[in-house]
Amino acid sequence: MRWSIRIARVGGIDLKIHLTFLIFLAWIAFSYYHAGGASVAIQGTLFVVLLFLCVLLHELGHALTARQFGIRTPDITLLPIGGVARLERIPKEPRQELLIAIAGPLVNVVIAAILMLVLNQQADASALENLSNPAVTLMSKLASVNIFLVLFNLIPAFPMDGGRILRALLAMKLNYARATQIAATVGQALAFVFGLVGLFGNPMLLFIALFVYLGASQEATLARVQDVTFDLPVSEAMVTDLRALPVNATLDDAAEAVLRTSQHEFPVLDQAGRILGIITSADIIDALRRHGGNASILQVMHKDTPVVHPDDRLDEAFLKMQSSSFPALPVIDSFGRFLGLITPENVGEMIMIRSVRPKNGKPSWRLAHA
Ligand code: ZN
Repeated sequence: MRWSIRIARVGGIDLKIHLTFLIFLAWIAFSYYHAGGASVAIQGTLFVVLLFLCVLLHELGHALTARQFGIRTPDITLLPIGGVARLERIPKEPRQELLIAIAGPLVNVVIAAILMLVLNQQADASALENLSNPAVTLMSKLASVNIFLVLFNLIPAFPMDGGRILRALLAMKLNYARATQIAATVGQALAFVFGLVGLFGNPMLLFIALFVYLGASQEATLARVQDVTFDLPVSEAMVTDLRALPVNATLDDAAEAVLRTSQHEFPVLDQAGRILGIITSADIIDALRRHGGNASILQVMHKDTPVVHPDDRLDEAFLKMQSSSFPALPVIDSFGRFLGLITPENVGEMIMIRSVRPKNGKPSWRLAHA
């Protein structure tokens, strides 16, 4: 994710903080300071930091369970709305998905249980004097917020863990796409209820409703893509009949290519046929206005595009394309030579062509928590 800073590495997983999270922390500290001075600011900020530490441990619960099944998690990012664990691969069986999904909330159950145990012992030891002890207040607040995290994440709607758990349970009986479809529908129905209650009461619920609704739609789309592209290699769907631009092309040359073809994305190749970058027709038109026709395309093209190989799985390439900000992914051979492009349009066309034939799907994972 862009604008993230790596803070630590645990078991091969990069723990990252998104810049907006730091701004959020600063805002919390400032508003507490404004309301009650330095000590209130320190306590308030400490609570938020500890809360997000619990969220991080929750995500690590997912990631470390996934690792038991040979699935790596390149990074976990903390955002003001929660944590996101990016699982590299897809759990192969519903049972694995179930265990990975449950592991997160289970971490919060354990944290809450430990905190309550400690609190009880303290309360027994010295009943009354603890009531004004800020450490005790902090611990009891943390315990209740962990219980809230468990309940919230178990809401049976994507992108919450509850949605994954529901889908995994359904997928034990039904095929994967059907299970996802039902889980997504349940999620959207819940979003509708939240939205309705939110309208008359808590506006926070409106926000959750939107979050859940979008999560369910995205998951349903992704499941459809995967249902169709399952087990297909990239080579099946790549565009090979296309115009490439040479390294020394000007924006005028590029504009000519835009006019003469129906392409939206143009690969830029060096003399040896290796990919240097990708330039879109929108980039070309925009750059023409700003730099004029004689300027080189090199300063406008998207460099360092992620690449895929012809034998890579198409559904994973599609996920890679979605999570990167690149308009298309170049396909290269083992010598680094350009073979073709994977674009959102041609994956869409692929889906239309293949959807006449029923196939089994496989799950995809993106864990997000509010
Ligand atoms: Zn979770």
